[in-house]
Amino acid sequence: MQSSRVVTPDDLDRPIRTALPWLARGAAGLARLGITTPREALWYLPFRYDDFSELRTLRELVPDEKQSARVKVDAVRVEPGFGRRPQRVIAQLSDDDRGTAEAIWFGRRFVERRLQAGDEVIISGKVTERGWHRQFTSPEFSPVGRDSVHTARVVPIYHLSGNVTQKRLRELLARILEATLPSLGDPLTDAERGDLPRLADALQTAHFPETEAETTPALDRLAFDELLALQLGLAQARKARDDLQAPAIGVADADLVEIVGALPFTLTGDQRAAVEAITADLASQRPMRRLLQGDVGSGKTAVAAVALASAVRAGWQGALMAPTEILARQHHVGLAALLDRLGVRSEFLSGSLTAKRKREIHDAIAGGMAEVVIGTHAVISEAVEFPRLGLAIVDEQHRFGVGQRAALQAKGAGGEPHVLALTATPIPRTLALTVYGDLSISTIREMPPGRQPIRTEIRDRRALPKIEAFLASEAAEGRQSFVVAPLVVESEALEVASAEAEAERLAAALPGVRVALVHGQQRADLRDATMTAFAAGESDVLVATTVIEVGIDVPNASVMLIEDAERFGLAQLHQLRGRVGRGPHRSFCILLSGSTDALALERLDVVRGSLDGFHIAEQDLRLRGAGNLLGTRQSGLPPLKVASLFEPRHLALAQRARDLADTLVAGGELRPELARLQADFAPIEEEGDAA
Ligand code: ADP
Ligand code: MG
Repeated sequence: MQSSRVVTPDDLDRPIRTALPWLARGAAGLARLGITTPREALWYLPFRYDDFSELRTLRELVPDEKQSARVKVDAVRVEPGFGRRPQRVIAQLSDDDRGTAEAIWFGRRFVERRLQAGDEVIISGKVTERGWHRQFTSPEFSPVGRDSVHTARVVPIYHLSGNVTQKRLRELLARILEATLPSLGDPLTDAERGDLPRLADALQTAHFPETEAETTPALDRLAFDELLALQLGLAQARKARDDLQAPAIGVADADLVEIVGALPFTLTGDQRAAVEAITADLASQRPMRRLLQGDVGSGKTAVAAVALASAVRAGWQGALMAPTEILARQHHVGLAALLDRLGVRSEFLSGSLTAKRKREIHDAIAGGMAEVVIGTHAVISEAVEFPRLGLAIVDEQHRFGVGQRAALQAKGAGGEPHVLALTATPIPRTLALTVYGDLSISTIREMPPGRQPIRTEIRDRRALPKIEAFLASEAAEGRQSFVVAPLVVESEALEVASAEAEAERLAAALPGVRVALVHGQQRADLRDATMTAFAAGESDVLVATTVIEVGIDVPNASVMLIEDAERFGLAQLHQLRGRVGRGPHRSFCILLSGSTDALALERLDVVRGSLDGFHIAEQDLRLRGAGNLLGTRQSGLPPLKVASLFEPRHLALAQRARDLADTLVAGGELRPELARLQADFAPIEEEGDAA
């Protein structure tokens, strides 16, 4: 091993090859993880720790507890799934203490590729007693390494992709920390930092803690930096907004009555209240920044349509931007019907149109003939010029980066447009105020009348044969089903593999049923095509990773089956469930879980027992409390890497960061270290079709 050297602060943001030439061989692997500079490596944090500092022998294992042991793999056998039974992978284990045990995995094809007879591994998971022997059910495992960064200690577990292994990544990160931390400055003064540890110490501990307990203050410090970056942005936005002007769009009462009267239904009380709040905002010269939140199917689109038509009646143009082509198209279909009735001319714009068609639409917008434009990011491409953009609506706003939102806002001619954001992810109020500090909020709680309640059940894998028979009988009746494959947080590749395996298994188990597959590693156009075909009834069962979450409207879908449901956030489960029950058919949501953990089951029971997204979000917040996993997806919230707003401690840190940000922003230009901090945490622009 070559001797490391310590780098200068400037090297932190240079390419790894240049800054740390002796690690050049690791650079390609790191790049696959999105790590191109030493600073990015420092902030590539583990999402979990495994405490292997207390390894047990197999004979010491006790049932119904999560434990780790160092074992030898004596044999691995694969029992193919047949009929309705899933494939099983079974490993025989032994150790130096002459103990034996078994490990079993269900329907997970990737296990057999990573595990072979003769391997020595640290295995970790819940142990159950089967007759007189011990069994690990779906345990995690990692090869025994000689290096002390891997075993017999608290071990960091990172998200992986490409060929980089946990072991290799740990080695690389250990060397990068060693080379960079000595010269790493702290963006916060001692006074600002208060009781939080110094940045360099926090990073060292977050990657390689001695004990799991000491990760808490370390991660708090990192969370604080991240929250401060977010709050600096919000504080600047608040300050900047005071200087901005939007057109005052006065909507005549008579126009509003006519518009609302043209809807094919009567607005619910909550919809009406939202419309009133929006028209009041539009009438002011202070730019509207309003969030309209309501469950899937609560009628947000109808409110959006009324707002757009009102702005057009008052002489302005409107735009609605959705994160994906398929969602944009659905909005267009839904909105166009209503807007047509009102004589409002709308156009659909996306990157997939021909160049000629795009030019025509650009001209129609520039000439004012297109009064409402509905589309994807293409709506904010440079070629698009709105002479009179008064109202911009952003659907599923968390899926758009700040930059894209800013670009939409910049399209306002002679001032800012008013902005309305729609979201189906209910956010408890305490949280919303902290995170969206400068937004007003309208909430639709009341569902439109005549909704079929969705029946939700919790089942374990033993019920699979029955469930599959049910999917088949629904298909025979012309209904469709979604199957959400297990979430694999360690690696997207594994997640895709599990979805593929699940699709294969179902296709084999259900002859005559047409099974389709969508996942996040497919090209966006292929994914859209598969989902469009499903929406058109060309397949019966759609197996998916969570890409369907912000999803499509398929009124004919009647079943949502979610595997390993305990791995999902409750809000996410609720969102997924909202994909069914959108038509006239009796609908079902099946939460499949092998968990015996009381808390996990209590969480699932919250979803089973309620169809109210706000109630679920509040219970989620209550149940998560401490012990929340790092990196758990928090849909609807900013893409925070370290901080968790489900963590009361971090919510308090957010409050503190907000106060500090206001002080710092009021004091004029930010110190370079803070500007740098803010830039580092700028939310990553999400995927989507190109303009
Ligand atoms: P969201 O955008 O919140 O998911 P939508 O606006 O798409 O919900 O509404 C879902 C369905 O409910 C649509 O078919 C819509 O026509 C219908 N709908 C909306 N508001 C009402 C209402 N007040 N009464 C009856 N049906 C409604
Ligand atoms: Mg909608």
